[in-house]
Amino acid sequence: MELRKTFGRFVDGGALTPKGWLRRQLKLQAEGQAGNLDKFWPDVKDSAWIGGKAEGWERVPYWLDGFIDLAWLLDDDDMKARAKRYIDAIFANQCADGWICPCPVDKRADYDMWSLFLLAKVLHVWYRRTGDPRVAPALMEAFRQLRSHLAANPLKNWGKYRWYEGLGALAWLFEETKEPWLLVLAERIRQQSYDYPSLVANWPYKSKATKWTFEEHVVNLGMVIHSELFYQRLHPESNTDGEAFAETMLANLMKYHSMATGMFTGDECVSGDSPSQGTELCAVVEAMYSEELLLAATGHAIWGDRLEKLAFNALPAACSADMWTHQYDHATNQIGCQNEPTPIWSTNGAEAHLFGLEPNYGCCTANHGQGWPKLAASAFLLGDRSIISALMLPCRLETEIDGAQIVCDVETDYPFRDTATYTITVSQPVAFDLKIRIPGFAEAAEIDGKPVKTGEFHVISKTWEGTTTLNVKLTFEPQFVDRPRGMSVLWRGPLLFSLPIPSRSVKHEYERNGVERKFPYCDYEYFATAPWNYAFAGKDVAVEEHPLPDMPFAEDKPPLTLSLPMVRIPWAIHEKSIAIAAPQPTSLTPEGAAEQKTLIPFGSTMLRMTEMPIVKAD
Ligand SMILES: [Zn+2]
Repeated sequence: MELRKTFGRFVDGGALTPKGWLRRQLKLQAEGQAGNLDKFWPDVKDSAWIGGKAEGWERVPYWLDGFIDLAWLLDDDDMKARAKRYIDAIFANQCADGWICPCPVDKRADYDMWSLFLLAKVLHVWYRRTGDPRVAPALMEAFRQLRSHLAANPLKNWGKYRWYEGLGALAWLFEETKEPWLLVLAERIRQQSYDYPSLVANWPYKSKATKWTFEEHVVNLGMVIHSELFYQRLHPESNTDGEAFAETMLANLMKYHSMATGMFTGDECVSGDSPSQGTELCAVVEAMYSEELLLAATGHAIWGDRLEKLAFNALPAACSADMWTHQYDHATNQIGCQNEPTPIWSTNGAEAHLFGLEPNYGCCTANHGQGWPKLAASAFLLGDRSIISALMLPCRLETEIDGAQIVCDVETDYPFRDTATYTITVSQPVAFDLKIRIPGFAEAAEIDGKPVKTGEFHVISKTWEGTTTLNVKLTFEPQFVDRPRGMSVLWRGPLLFSLPIPSRSVKHEYERNGVERKFPYCDYEYFATAPWNYAFAGKDVAVEEHPLPDMPFAEDKPPLTLSLPMVRIPWAIHEKSIAIAAPQPTSLTPEGAAEQKTLIPFGSTMLRMTEMPIVKAD
């Protein structure tokens, strides 16, 4: 039996090298919080996964998932060795019966098996980067053990709602071994899982959640977008349509819980479409991962557009430019990041808006590190006799077709600029297709001066010789997009723009429950120091380019700005909160004359107004 074919496969080993601003962003991550958790954060440093006394469930697998990719993308020997130390310990601690998670035998019945699914994802990443021959036998034994474990202990809690997370690794093992019991296991896992297809077909969650449930949990919903795709790959004979499921799931979320970036709210359960409501950083990186898988599997360019909107806007917004702090929840309109005594979040605590080490909860601390590396790793895909530029990111791909060495360099500052130069060098003449995804949000596009269609993959099919250079030029216009409550947001291409609110920060260094916050891994509150209650007062937008800064998303050095007239309007603080704007203004009557204001990328802001009405000013 053959698995369902995919449009493109991810690049293994170290054949894809990020360059330019993307490399700088990845270096910031490597030198920041996610790149150093094994040195100071107990849940990774002293994890039960390596024989320590701290958490032995989600934290280390979450962290390794991004850290391994990051180490190989940067070809950093120190990081590779640090990752290997964890992988070695995990293999060394596997029991004779195949059980691989850190849990005593008498506690296994209570252990939530989701961590095994997540670890399977991580070990598959490790294999793809290293080719380590220990991975397949260890995972086979772990899955064999799982098969008997599930007979007596059906999936529950997180395992029941994140059942699909190990199916990528399971599919790989099946392709390696052709062992039919792996397909039977996938079926058994699904039978014990929560029935998301029925939920999606009869979507009941049409307003802000009032209590915490697995069904409405935003990270589960971000992950589950790709669930049926995985299942369909393993069971192509079933009537499952993974992409149709994903489309319907997203449509439901966007209808009732949309954010301007294309993300959906969830703090931490779905929470309506107010621009003051937030979403969890874990959900952002999981939704990105889902969209990367959908793009690679289907070749439908729309998934790349959706992915870029999250990657260039939601992800950087939730992290400080130096990648040393992150928020649990970030909001579209964010006029303060302060301890909220009576937070408006659907279920989260007072600290969910703070930038810090583990504000509200530590899952995002461990998990956010997968965001940038998995994006970078999706820049190029490989198909049958085809090289696929899935995302126009600065990088180099080295690969081989029919014995010809092929180097494909992409020089670009996209999304901050509108052009890219592809240089393809082959060691001997070779025929293959180069497929370049042209974003759907471009008004127009051309390659070497000739118009090409937007919103699809442009295919160049020929025999390549020597060195070929291709110049891609995209055209973007500033565009106001309608939002609920009569409000609008301003896009230009893949970047959403916000009015930055000047702020001061207050640093908090302290220890709680044995976890130390100490600079640079401490917490910060942000207080607005200037008015934030603005509306758009015209649609005449001037675009200005500035040099790209060392930190691509630094608030004080935005590489691209938009200027337009804006005016202050009456807008109150959200009831009972201290620094959260009401969902909409009190009135649309301007308070004074229009001012020319400068908007910067959403992802570069700390405090911001993004979703605002358009009013007539004198
Ligand atoms: Zn989280």
